[in-house]
Order: sequence, then C-alpha cells, then structure tokens
Amino acid sequence: MDEFDLINRFFKRDTVGASVALGVGDDCALLDIPRGYQLALSIDTLLPDVHFFADADPGLIAERALSVSISDLAAMGAEPLAYTLALTLPEVNECWLAGFSEGLVVAEKRYGCSLIGGDTTRGPLCISVQVHGIVPCDAAIKRSGAHHGDLVCVSGCLGDGAAALASLQGELLVDSEAQAYFDECYHRPLAQLDLGFALRGIASAGIDISDGLLSDLGHICSASGLGAELDLRALPYSSAMLAHVDAGRAKTWALTGGDDYQLCFTVPPHLTGALGELMATDQYPITVIGAMTATSGIFCRESGQMLNQSDTGYKHFQ
Ligand code: ADP
Ligand code: MG
Repeated sequence: MDEFDLINRFFKRDTVGASVALGVGDDCALLDIPRGYQLALSIDTLLPDVHFFADADPGLIAERALSVSISDLAAMGAEPLAYTLALTLPEVNECWLAGFSEGLVVAEKRYGCSLIGGDTTRGPLCISVQVHGIVPCDAAIKRSGAHHGDLVCVSGCLGDGAAALASLQGELLVDSEAQAYFDECYHRPLAQLDLGFALRGIASAGIDISDGLLSDLGHICSASGLGAELDLRALPYSSAMLAHVDAGRAKTWALTGGDDYQLCFTVPPHLTGALGELMATDQYPITVIGAMTATSGIFCRESGQMLNQSDTGYKHFQ
C-alpha cells in the first residue's frame, strides 16, 4: 500500500460539512467562512508515552486526539468546521490504521466536523490535529479579557484527568465502576463545546484546563494583568474521586494535575444573573471558585498561603 492508497482507504471521507467546499484529495482543502465570522485555528501534537499510551486502542487514541484539539475551540466559544491531520507513522499497520480511522469518525460525529486534509509521513509515531472553527467577529472568549472583581468559574469536576492517569498506571486502585469512569475521562475527554457557545457574551475570559487549574488560570491572570483568589473548599470533585482519593491528593490533582479539559472562565459581576440562569438550566455543571484580584499571583483561601503559579502545571521543557 503506498501513501495515496493509505489516504484513500483510511482518511478520505464521502460526507463533508456544509461549509466544506473541497475536502481530501487536492493540494488544499477549501472552506467557506460565513460573513461576519472569524476563523479560529488551533493545532495540537500528540506523542506516544507523553500524551497517550503507545499500546492503547488506536480508536481511543484518535478520539482523544480530536477531543483535545476541539477543546481549544470550546475554550474560545468557537464552533468546529473541519480539521486536518498530520500523521507520522513508523510503518503501515493496516489494523492500527483501521482502528484509528474508526475512532476519528466516532469523534467527528460527536463534534460535527470532518477531516478535510493532512499529511502522511514515515518516522516515529506522531499525531498532529489542527482544528478549524468559526466564531462571530469579536465574540471569541480570550484569555486577556478578565477584570478585577470578575468571578472565577469552572465546569465539571477537577482532578479526574490526573486520577485517571494514576489509575491507568496502576498507582490508584479503584472499584470497577470508578475504573470505568476514569477510563472514560482519560480516553474520551468531552470537549465543552456547548458550554463554550453558551458563554459567549457572558464570560470575560476563558481557557480549557489541560495543564491543571493553577497553571491555566495563571494564563488568564497574566494575559489579563491580574491575580486571583480561590476558595479551595469550593473545588468540584467527582464521586469517583471522593470515594477513592484522600482530600489532600484530590486537591493537588485538581490544582496541578492535567488533562481535565473542563473550562475555566471569568464572569463580570453585572453578568452573574445570566450566569445564574445558565446554571439553573442544569445543563452545565458550573462552580464558582473565586474572583479575580488586582494584585498578581493566585491566593488560595483554605491554606492562606500564596501559591506561586509558575511552579505548577505540566511543562515540556523542564
Ligand atoms: P501534497 O503533496 O500536495 O502536499 P499530499 O500528497 O501530501 O499532497 O496529500 C494528498 C491529499 O491527501 C491532500 O488533499 C492531503 O490533504 C490529503 N492527506 C494526506 N495525508 C492525509 C491524512 N493523514 N489525513 C487526511 N488527509 C490527508
Ligand atoms: Mg501539492
């Protein structure tokens, strides 16, 4: 099988979205961008045994790869249109490619976006996914928009990504129900697209939590030129976490663990009514955990100590 057979067999799609004018097969793909919208682009590279287990089910690797990229669109309040895939493979393993391709299709259906192009090369396994989304002009939720006094909120539960990794590595022993929950958290993190749309016009700033709350909220703080004060007693935990992990470790994982893919966002005081309405729908689990402050640094109320945000979160070059 040469490169072109491989692309045709595993990555060429019949169905393309309404805005996809041209998909896989030409020198470029073509997308129609509606008037009044901006293109939102983001790329993520996944390496074996850094971002996924090399021996994991290829379908789950694919689902995870697309989900973590789409999560960046969710953080900005953008809507996915399509994505491109740069794949470096050590060999042509048809069984692995079939599983990987099926996993992509599952995630494409979940998020409503299709594969429109990419690049295929031989070398050590490396998966890059670039997502292409749209957002109404000036409606994107940026990291830099927070103001002093804005509430700090998070979606979902925190720390599950780190707990899931520990359970997969055999360092956290849990019952079968919690194991199933954590496996799902790790392999199928659900990008919070609907919440991202709902937060347009409400959130002043936002980010997806991929490196841990302190690190990611730290990006909102530095981009907005502010600090934050958090009430650690308010941090939201899953029932699987509460049942299997002591309070200290749960807190550490929530603050500094990675891979949660929940949203952290800020809401100005005059929009707390709109936030309350969103929370009352029960569609999105949202927790208010603190407020933005004029002084820099992230202050955690429970411990009463100033946490140095630069010491936290996963960093590739350390
Ligand atoms: P070019 O040489 O013009 O860059 P390629 O030969 O690399 O084109 O790719 C041929 C077509 O297949 C292009 O439309 C490209 O976008 C698509 N393609 C290549 N690799 C992938 C992939 N891994 N997934 C999806 N589409 C791909
Ligand atoms: Mg070309």
